[in-house]
Amino acid sequence: MKTVLVTGASRGIGHDIARHFATSGFNVAINYNTSREAAGRLQDELQKVGCNSMLVKADVSDREQVNQMLQLVNRQFGDIEILINNAGIAKQQLFTDITSGEWDRMFDVNVKGMFHCTQGVLPAMIRNHCGKIINISSVWGITGASCEVLYSTTKAAIIGMTKALAKELGPSNIQVNCVAPGVIDTDMNSDLDAEAIKELKEQTPLGVIGKGTDIAETVFFLASQKADFITGQIISPNGGFLI
Ligand code: NAP
Repeated sequence: MKTVLVTGASRGIGHDIARHFATSGFNVAINYNTSREAAGRLQDELQKVGCNSMLVKADVSDREQVNQMLQLVNRQFGDIEILINNAGIAKQQLFTDITSGEWDRMFDVNVKGMFHCTQGVLPAMIRNHCGKIINISSVWGITGASCEVLYSTTKAAIIGMTKALAKELGPSNIQVNCVAPGVIDTDMNSDLDAEAIKELKEQTPLGVIGKGTDIAETVFFLASQKADFITGQIISPNGGFLI
């Protein structure tokens, strides 16, 4: 049974990714940082239907916490074959209002978190000559978003990291891909009012806001053997928002 680690799996997209893998027969490590109860509810739900999962707390921006998390996962499930770098934070603000601390924090979580987790799982993947890494970016990392310059910058960095790492790890038979979702109905967008949601739907050819399960399907495909020849790619499930 293969083992997958999903970062930021207590809520939103990560939650749906973790559930998809667990109900498809994988060992799933559910990483959370602050939402212990929500992560626990997911694990309870998965245990009731006989899925193998474990909870692991870590702030991905902290290398020590990440290393401890990886040790726990290795002890319970063995080597991690699939890493889903999903944990992320966002904030809408004018570029002129961003503080140096806010800049560092968002980079630490959204980009350095991926650096820590990816470096942590790579020795086993390289040894096993096999592995899949999927990084969650955003359409804003491709197009840039007004009032989300910092977020867009971190998400663009993830695209660069994905492409470069795919080249470096190809010879080790490790596929590195990026999923760049459009607007998805999660807590991250809870501050959007009804008018903003209406406008976003109008700008989306399919006329709907995405669901976490839409992203989970794409991630699951990229993690499967069906995607063995796909690496360094940016796949954007976005309802046609960005064509
Ligand atoms: P969300 O509902 O706000 O959930 C964020 C998740 O990330 C939570 O599980 C949270 O864990 C975790 N997290 C945050 N900081 C963390 C840290 N320092 N260490 C570990 N985990 C941390 O967000 P979402 O919408 O599901 O977003 C998930 C990913 O998709 C993010 O990378 C986001 O940028 C990307 N994305 C979202 C959208 C969208 O429209 N929603 C669109 C494109 C891309 P705790 O609650 O346990 O702290």
